[in-house]
Amino acid sequence: MDFLLISPPVGNVGQAVSSLPALTAFLRARGWDAHQWDLSIDSFHHFHSRSYLARCRRIVGDHGADDRLMAAADRAVGEIDAAKASLRQQGAAGRRDTWRWAFDVLRDAGVLLTAASRGRHQHDFRHFDIPGAVRGFDSLGAALEDGEANPFIGFFMEHALPRLRRRAAVAIGISITYYSQLIPAFTLARLLRLQLPGTHLILGGGYLTATASDVERIPSALLPADAIVLHDGEDALDAWLNVVVRGRGALGDVPNVCLPQNGTFRRVSPRPHHTDLATVSVPMLTMQGLDLERYLVPKYAIGLPLSRGCHWGRCAYCNISNQTLARYRRRQTEQAVADMRATMAETGSNWFDLPVDSYHPRDLWELGRAILAADLSVEWAAEVLFDAGFTDPVVADLARSGCRCLRFGLESADPVTLKAMRKPTRPEVASRVLGSCRQHGIHTGVMVIAGFPTETQVGLGRTFDFLVDHRDRIDFVGIHPYSLVPGSPMARDPGAFGIYLRPHTAVMTTSLPFTNTNPVGMQNEDLPRVIEAMKAGLRDHYPELGELWTAAIGGWMTFPACCASGG
Ligand code: SF4
Repeated sequence: MDFLLISPPVGNVGQAVSSLPALTAFLRARGWDAHQWDLSIDSFHHFHSRSYLARCRRIVGDHGADDRLMAAADRAVGEIDAAKASLRQQGAAGRRDTWRWAFDVLRDAGVLLTAASRGRHQHDFRHFDIPGAVRGFDSLGAALEDGEANPFIGFFMEHALPRLRRRAAVAIGISITYYSQLIPAFTLARLLRLQLPGTHLILGGGYLTATASDVERIPSALLPADAIVLHDGEDALDAWLNVVVRGRGALGDVPNVCLPQNGTFRRVSPRPHHTDLATVSVPMLTMQGLDLERYLVPKYAIGLPLSRGCHWGRCAYCNISNQTLARYRRRQTEQAVADMRATMAETGSNWFDLPVDSYHPRDLWELGRAILAADLSVEWAAEVLFDAGFTDPVVADLARSGCRCLRFGLESADPVTLKAMRKPTRPEVASRVLGSCRQHGIHTGVMVIAGFPTETQVGLGRTFDFLVDHRDRIDFVGIHPYSLVPGSPMARDPGAFGIYLRPHTAVMTTSLPFTNTNPVGMQNEDLPRVIEAMKAGLRDHYPELGELWTAAIGGWMTFPACCASGG
């Protein structure tokens, strides 16, 4: 085997990260004996097995757990298998009571896992963290070696290393998409270097791109990788494999990589290289290492990466421009339809939850009409802007082509705040688009940012009123506190937004500490209270707010809940 690409714990229990089958297929098309392994879902089932949870229950019992904790432990041990099975059953998303119970059991399991570590880590089906680990690279290094706090040392030694030794890949890649994967991924990298010292090792993924400025400060002693890929991985991996496996070319010519130098990592070229989406291959979803039956969904939603970047790319708080240099690219429509047809034939699923930053309405309309012309029976969802291009005829065609859900970044319904955010959304356009979606049967998700530095209580009140006024045409609401994201225009020029950066007290995180000097703006420390009050006020109109729809990374059951059959 030339190359094995691994998605480490703790990822999404509803879907494999889309880069895994996409990159594997790309490398195979380039002639590499490439394979994939979603180690994340295997880890989930290991830690959320009845036997593992029973062991945790004994530990908390031995340490004098109170009645409440023991009750949660008993529920987790006794009901975990049934809860996991229920989320996989056909029609699961339509049975809200069952669904709520299953999430409660998963939460109980998380409480038990965390309690059994006696607070040394926080671990549930979507999170993993070791408190204080990312205060600095020293503390991160300590966490990676602490067998008491870091359960992945034992898990990898027992369950991953033997298999990796047998598979004998010449090179291994580890892709990090979420913060929750950071400590497990670095732990695995260190174990691989110790246990399989001859194996070439490369790390990459969207999370590392989002924390790019810290990546160049990672001590190479902490992360003993041969290279780190930022931005698009396809051509970078192909070129890197040519150097390390076939001895062709030079590391200095590999695009998008950082290489170890003088104790840290140095970018080979400051200019990102973008993959031409016309050259990528149809993702491979059924080969060994990816078992679609293991995910907690009634039917697998295929994550076809049909576009990258954002066609707007200018919002002040967003780091998408950092990740893609604002270059919006999409797969040509004929190729997209062919990809859908091929993956449907391969998997038997006709669900597509498109992992895109923001699909242009013109392009989405073209895709919808092509799906209709090809007579494909699909159900799909995507993330989009409230763009005036979503006219009623466009929305009608999208609905006819199988669009079940559009997720919109409203962020605010206050024109002053929207302008400060450099967000092109207009509340009246948003209102009209939401109305069209409701009329044509497309479910809608609306995301809001609370606490933008110049936002006043009055401005946030306008957003609250908008959500209440449109409760008949909004299905899901997500409220996120504002955070200053590395690589965003605001992080590059904080003074222009009335904020200044405070000394960084953490590494490898996507939120920078700042002080807000805007006299009318809300203070960041007040946000949890403000958001809780906002949610409390909205619950009368959105009873499931903050529960089912946001219960997982990406709210993974949201899409099944929108589909005709609910699975
Ligand atoms: S917030 Fe959304 S619309 Fe704005 S630049 Fe980022 S991806 Fe594009």
